[in-house]
Amino acid sequence: MSNSPIIEIPLLNLRGEINELWDEINEAFQRVLRSGHFVLGPEVEAFESEVANFLGVRFAIGLNSGTDALTIGLKSLGISEGDEVITTAFSFFATAEAIIHAGASPVFVDIDPETFNMDPKRIEEAITSRTRAIIPVHLYGNPAPIEKIASLAGKYNLSVLEDAAQAFGAIYEGKPLGKTTTQPFVEQRVGSRSEATAFSFYPTKNLGAYGDGGLLTTNDPEIAKKVLMYRNHGELPNQRYRHQVVGYNSRLDEFQAAILRLKLTRIDNWNDLRRNAAASYRNLLESTRDARAPTHYDGHIYHQFSIMLPPDVRKAVATYLYDQGISTKIYYPESLTVPHQTRQTFTPVSDNTAKSVLSIPIWPGIPSDSQVRVVDTIKEALRLSGKEA
Ligand SMILES: *Cc1c(COP(=O)(O)O)cnc(C)c1O
Repeated sequence: MSNSPIIEIPLLNLRGEINELWDEINEAFQRVLRSGHFVLGPEVEAFESEVANFLGVRFAIGLNSGTDALTIGLKSLGISEGDEVITTAFSFFATAEAIIHAGASPVFVDIDPETFNMDPKRIEEAITSRTRAIIPVHLYGNPAPIEKIASLAGKYNLSVLEDAAQAFGAIYEGKPLGKTTTQPFVEQRVGSRSEATAFSFYPTKNLGAYGDGGLLTTNDPEIAKKVLMYRNHGELPNQRYRHQVVGYNSRLDEFQAAILRLKLTRIDNWNDLRRNAAASYRNLLESTRDARAPTHYDGHIYHQFSIMLPPDVRKAVATYLYDQGISTKIYYPESLTVPHQTRQTFTPVSDNTAKSVLSIPIWPGIPSDSQVRVVDTIKEALRLSGKEA
């Protein structure tokens, strides 16, 4: 017997989405079953072309996972043994893992506390003669400052592979609220401008499949060709058993592609609902001194809504919320490190952020009374912990 409370407000609730799509999901499953194609068939092909069109990119290649998209992306960019790849100190482990799988060494740079993303001012000092690529991560769905990163990459002749696992449908260079800009704002979706971008369709991602899946996008036909080889044991399509490189089995399956095609037609609407939920949280948290809402950027799609709490009470607040039936999660409890790290880096902003962040429930269409309850419970927990005096 356990004394776990009943979770009434989960971190993510997919039930509404599944209900909305129920008949179409069933129709899609039956279509795949009847076709007799289960891996890399007509659904994958149709999804690849629809998603490329949606993102505004020439090539979109379906893979097994976001981790594979990062690893295969790096290998297709020619990253190998002895190379260094610069990335953020504050991300999911897979970002670093992919660099190691490609044979290279990750070099972690600190983040900007306002955006939780890689601080472009910290990149230049991390560059050495071995640096070959930069992996910006659009953490929580908030686009990293791609213009600054691209201009540094240009200056030092580095490749850019974006980790957009949490940012499907996000728009680059969103204007911070309240700041005026003299430049025209051209909307461009994440995944359409760097040499390569990796997406994940893990079920909890904002565009999630009902199993594993990933995607690599690029505008470069040579990179696209390499990705096609790597995903299928080094074979080029239509050249069976002629293995050009040692590759992987990293193919997207037909059921997942059929589901993703359905969800792709809703994703802009769902991302807007996430933005609305984020705006509500921001209003509700306004009067609260000790729970800080993240800064808003227009292009953000709020895969997560992560607040900052005083580090000494974060655990108490999370436990109190859990006891009241509200799920939260810490993304991520520590800055990234890997075994045998060749270069130690000093990342105090990331280290401190890891001690303060707490992601609270968000999904498209989260009821407003649930949001009120989440924030009221956070305030109560803060008072009980001696804050908000
Ligand atoms: C989820 C995630 C990945 C890995 O994607 P999988 O599909 O789970 O392999 C990589 N990077 C980030 C930032 C992620 O959130």
